[in-house]
Amino acid sequence: MPEPTRTDILIIGAGPVGLFAVFELGLFDMKCHLIDILDRPGGQCAELYPEKPIYDIPGYPIVSAQGLVDRLMEQIAPFKPGFSFNRMVTGLEKLDGGGFRVTTDENEVFEAKVVVIAAGGGSFQPKRPPIPGIEAYEQESVFYSVRRMEEFRGHDVMIVGGGDSALDWTLNLQPLARSVTLVHRRPEFRAAPDNVNKMYALQEMKQLEFLVGQVTGLKGADGKLSSATVKGLDGDVEVPCTRLLPFFGLTMKLGPIAEWGLNLHENLIPVDTEKFETSVPGIFAIGDINTYPGKLKLILSGFHEAALMTQAAKRIVSPGERVVFQYTTSSTSLQKKLGVA
Ligand code: FAD
Repeated sequence: MPEPTRTDILIIGAGPVGLFAVFELGLFDMKCHLIDILDRPGGQCAELYPEKPIYDIPGYPIVSAQGLVDRLMEQIAPFKPGFSFNRMVTGLEKLDGGGFRVTTDENEVFEAKVVVIAAGGGSFQPKRPPIPGIEAYEQESVFYSVRRMEEFRGHDVMIVGGGDSALDWTLNLQPLARSVTLVHRRPEFRAAPDNVNKMYALQEMKQLEFLVGQVTGLKGADGKLSSATVKGLDGDVEVPCTRLLPFFGLTMKLGPIAEWGLNLHENLIPVDTEKFETSVPGIFAIGDINTYPGKLKLILSGFHEAALMTQAAKRIVSPGERVVFQYTTSSTSLQKKLGVA
């Protein structure tokens, strides 16, 4: 087993609620590490509605969802949290001597005194495109995210989709791939216009290929792809392809949380409303993933839950230490932690 990364608090999920928990825990000197399946912080705000305005965050009459995530990242920066993105937490077990061991789908191991589940609606999982036989190539030649760019060096890469992920990776992988072909059903994209322009400019310079059409078939052997058939307006074309990256959006599923031995109610984790602790002492659940009488799935509810959870977490991380209530406006010690005094 690899050497574990040790931290006071392991937070599963870097959505708005997981991020704000870092702030509350940080004020009480607890070091946090966050793990998220997505490749960046923000959870639903960043993945589902980054440009939509939110009107019910206290103190912000209007803020875009991505704007809120950016402000939260700024607010927690003084506490220097650790982040592991592109990782799914798969295992959570109790250690004999106290604390917990958390493992990811990349076989990393974390040990923490307290675990905070801020997993929202569960894991974002990629939608599989309707290409016959695609399963046989998954994890060998077909990937739904880019974890290590080096794995694409020197390959004939085909990227399918018209959103930000498809365009980002087309531009990022182009310099190191042998060839890059972007395939999308139509010439209009949902991605940032600047990236679309950059893609068209590279196509003009013949540094990548853009095809309007759909991938209808794959050829290869033993999980290793050699080519893909693209059905376009002028019929079928066979394109060399040793790495395929389909970006067809994400769905949310509870995922491995169901296997961690916690009490669940309709795929949510019941908690008390004093500490937001689960049926296992030392494991807390905050934000959209929890349930209790009167629960509202709002960002501000999750922020409140993070503040109360922190009081209980501190008693586990520093047993016997008095938990002192202080205001950030008047406490020099809190202001020092924030780097403003
Ligand atoms: P999430 O934002 O869901 O984040 C959870 C994170 O956990 C995700 O990033 C996920 O990848 C990660 N995760 C889950 N399981 C694992 C695992 N096993 N391993 C690793 N990572 C994992 N709320 C408001 O208050 N006001 C609004 O105006 C508002 N508008 C909304 C509009 C839309 C279109 C939608 C979809 C939601 C809206 N919401 C709004 C709801 C709000 O976005 C959620 O309440 C909020 O995102 C919950 O935050 P969270 O941190 O609990 O969970």
